[in-house]
Amino acid sequence: MVNRVLMWAAASPRLQRQVTQNPVARRAAHRFVAGERLDEALDAAAALASRGIGSILDLLGEGVTDLSGAGAAVAEYEAAAKAIAARGLDARISIKLSQLGQTVDRDACVANLTEILDQAAAVGVPVEIDMEDSSLVPDTVALFRDAATAHPQTRLAVQAALRRTPVDLEALASLRPRVRLVKGAYAEPLEHAHQGKAEIRAQYRYLTDWLFEHGSDPAFGTHDDELVAHAHQAAARAGKGPQEYEFQFLYGIRRDLQQELVDSGHRVRVYIPFGSAWYPYLTRRMAERPANLLFFLRALVGR
Ligand SMILES: Cc1cc2nc3c(=O)[nH]c(=O)nc-3n(C[C@H](O)[C@H](O)[C@H](O)COP(=O)(O)OP(=O)(O)OC[C@H]3O[C@@H](n4cnc5c(N)ncnc54)[C@H](O)[C@@H]3O)c2cc1C
Repeated sequence: MVNRVLMWAAASPRLQRQVTQNPVARRAAHRFVAGERLDEALDAAAALASRGIGSILDLLGEGVTDLSGAGAAVAEYEAAAKAIAARGLDARISIKLSQLGQTVDRDACVANLTEILDQAAAVGVPVEIDMEDSSLVPDTVALFRDAATAHPQTRLAVQAALRRTPVDLEALASLRPRVRLVKGAYAEPLEHAHQGKAEIRAQYRYLTDWLFEHGSDPAFGTHDDELVAHAHQAAARAGKGPQEYEFQFLYGIRRDLQQELVDSGHRVRVYIPFGSAWYPYLTRRMAERPANLLFFLRALVGR
């Protein structure tokens, strides 16, 4: 129920206006979003670096409706890549193709993606591609194939919840793809996605094993202790040491586990969202964990 209300809230422009214009709400959002400006995200990355943790910078905003919005995102990502290099941070950038105009003009999206990949490679910053809702998956996989052929360090997020993901990965196997395995953050119909926790976990475990066998440098984007434990076991079976795979966390979530993994010699990277379009991101995180909603509401009423 809470989940449905939050999914509705995520899509409501009116509520979005009211919440994002509220200065107290903006401050409360800081628990999960580094800030609205690039320099705030870079400062967050530097603070993580001092704890031995790498970063992934994500400019919030998705589903742009015109190409000027996409152009602005390209400029921000290029600035982010240059600033990461200038500050010598162990950080990457992660992009959403819908933010680059995928649903407005595919050719323009391809040109935008190519430009970001080339500019980021020129300053030595790897690029990751987020996975969005199921309607965008086939095209995102196709564009990743081209991106990874030109820039092999490019990483693609894939969703364990989606029924099609094993087939998508088999089709990419010849590339030995770099993948970030996640459960999937979008509400999807039964025909496209597993719905139950146990089924999603089962597919996540299957895909974890697959990635150790057929992928390169696998990354696991999860806060789920059971799946973290499975990744350790799969790594041991594949003869991989703690530095040969990576755990990725969302900013502000499971800081205890992040530190525990670093202390035991594992590679950890935190995904740092920044930018003014923080509202849909925040509501998705609250839908995943209603305790976050309580945290946010308490901050709003100053308790
Ligand atoms: C680095 C990273 C990148 C991601 N990229 C994508 C992407 O490209 N596309 C996509 O669809 N999804 C993406 N996701 C989101 C992902 O799909 C899940 O929605 C999200 O990670 C929650 O699933 P979980 O595996 O952490 O397990 P859950 O079962 O949701 O959580 C397990 C435990 O982790 C803790 N936890 C989980 N979520 C929260 C939270 N919001 N607040 C506080 N504690 C929490 C709780 O202790 C919980 O019991 C990404 C996630 C990460 C970590």
